[in-house]
Amino acid sequence: MSEPDMFSLAGRMALITGGGKGIGLSLAAALAKAGAEIVLSDMSASRVESAAADLASLGAKVSTAVFDVSNPSETRAAISNVEKQTGEIDILVNNAGIHRYAALVDMTFEQWRQVLDVNLTGAFLAAQAVAPGMIARGHGKIINICSLMSEGARPTTANYTAAKGGLKMLTKAMCVEWAPHNIQVNGIGPGYILTELTKPLAEKPEFDAWVKGRTPAGRWGTPADLAGAAVFLASGASDFVNGQVLYVDGGWLAAL
Ligand code: NDP
Repeated sequence: MSEPDMFSLAGRMALITGGGKGIGLSLAAALAKAGAEIVLSDMSASRVESAAADLASLGAKVSTAVFDVSNPSETRAAISNVEKQTGEIDILVNNAGIHRYAALVDMTFEQWRQVLDVNLTGAFLAAQAVAPGMIARGHGKIINICSLMSEGARPTTANYTAAKGGLKMLTKAMCVEWAPHNIQVNGIGPGYILTELTKPLAEKPEFDAWVKGRTPAGRWGTPADLAGAAVFLASGASDFVNGQVLYVDGGWLAAL
């Protein structure tokens, strides 16, 4: 008798925020490949439509939603609309994120606020919108995309470090409130991953060399490196894993 596939996401619906490109799009492809139906969301309608068409051409069942995760009413309305029109969300990936680099003494209030609003408050708003349905149905998976900066800082990233550190702790807070309802809330902490977000850094030879030298694996990560962690945390294989951040960093945090 064959065992059921503990990593299968067949019959599950996954919403990925900031899914129009980069890590979010790659995670959406991985969840689709494991059998999930995808709701791809981003702020740009044209970007998300084109990314959804690419995913659909690979055989995925995909719909789209356009909203800014930092806007409370937009986020609530969009998620309620998805659940009414497309179906109940079983898996939420809080992936939308931005950087606004500035030295702490020069950081404007706007730079501080934007990064906290998108990277931390956005995850709170989207999770709060999906949680009542998950609680009513008695199951759910929430994956918060954290960072090495959930653990440590680099100059010019105070806003981002505060947001990602907060997101790690919000993951624990969601876990303790929602675990009794069979909802697992975990984080993925990517190391340095080559995407449009990090392109300006990778283009600086000194920074590129620093990342390769500091990462025990000796290279930048790719969005595809995060696929296995996402499928694991979205699937039944992780049903007793809760409140954790799984770092996918080529060994970065293990090294002094
Ligand atoms: P990208 O910039 O390539 O993709 C992020 C996506 O999120 C973009 O499409 C972006 O749109 C969208 N987005 C931004 N703000 C909002 C918003 N308010 N509402 C909805 N969508 C929004 O970034 P990555 O793929 O590199 O990063 C994805 C996540 O992974 C982020 O949370 C990031 O902090 C995290 N991360 C990335 C690492 C890396 O090395 N790349 C390392 C650790 C963590 P737009 O382009 O218009 O802003």
